Amino acid sequence: MDRSKIKRAAELIRTSKYGVAFTGAGISVESGIPTFRGDGGLWSSVDPNYFEIEYFKKKPFQSWQKIKEIFYDKFVDVQPNISHKILSAMGNRGFIESVITQNIDHLHQVAGSKFVYELHGTYKQLVCTECSTEFDMSFADMSFLPPTCYVCKGVLKPDIVFFNEPIPKFALSRSIAEADKSDVMLIIGTNAEVYPANTIPVKAKDSGATLIEININKSGYSDTITDIFIEGKASEVMEEIGRLLYL
Ligand code: NAD
Ligand code: ZN
Repeated sequence: MDRSKIKRAAELIRTSKYGVAFTGAGISVESGIPTFRGDGGLWSSVDPNYFEIEYFKKKPFQSWQKIKEIFYDKFVDVQPNISHKILSAMGNRGFIESVITQNIDHLHQVAGSKFVYELHGTYKQLVCTECSTEFDMSFADMSFLPPTCYVCKGVLKPDIVFFNEPIPKFALSRSIAEADKSDVMLIIGTNAEVYPANTIPVKAKDSGATLIEININKSGYSDTITDIFIEGKASEVMEEIGRLLYL
């Protein structure tokens, strides 16, 4: 870990007027949730087709079986890690205004972050494919797949963005507005490959924000728009930033 870079990053966050965090799957790795791409990533063992919207519509049972196994059975025991907690503390102390995330695991909210914009939706909520009624997942009966709607008996879909589905309008417009207002953006654990989420840091940069990036590897941002690239595990770097900010 490059301590001088971490010090500069902490100082920038401390003196920022409108800090915003942008997170990807890398921040949740140390909570035990694998990434999708890369070594040990989910796509090396699971066919991404299960997350394609037309496939889901045609074969909801098969799709749900996989989704339940990957997310719903596993997420029960998953807890936020120190990175989620430091971001939450940063929000409470006014160092950041919001968290924009590509994650669907709800861990920022569990850690206490109040303003979280979920670009790819959340596993916590299910939505009816027929009447669009939304349910908290705790209401769904997962012992019979696919779970069905209490109102119309339609198939329920996890409220996550499948391949070939658009991004939720509210989350996208809020994220763009946050990026436009930001003067510092803290990017954690994303490889900048998923469009249009990957355009958010570019918008922040265009609006004059300084970009700080934390990742174990370089991403598509690192040698292009990132101002301070800190190579390292999110937990280790964030713990140090938290210490420097007295969090
Ligand atoms: P990705 O899986 O494509 O990339 C993850 C990034 O995290 C990589 O750049 C990797 O180098 C980095 N990383 C891995 N471990 C790290 C660590 N300990 N500390 C810091 N960085 C680390 O993820 P993505 O770019 O976010 O895109 C995949 C999409 O899949 C996301 O948009 C998201 O919707 C979804 N997804 C969500 C979850 C989740 O909710 N936790 C998990 C996997 C995938
Ligand atoms: Zn319904």
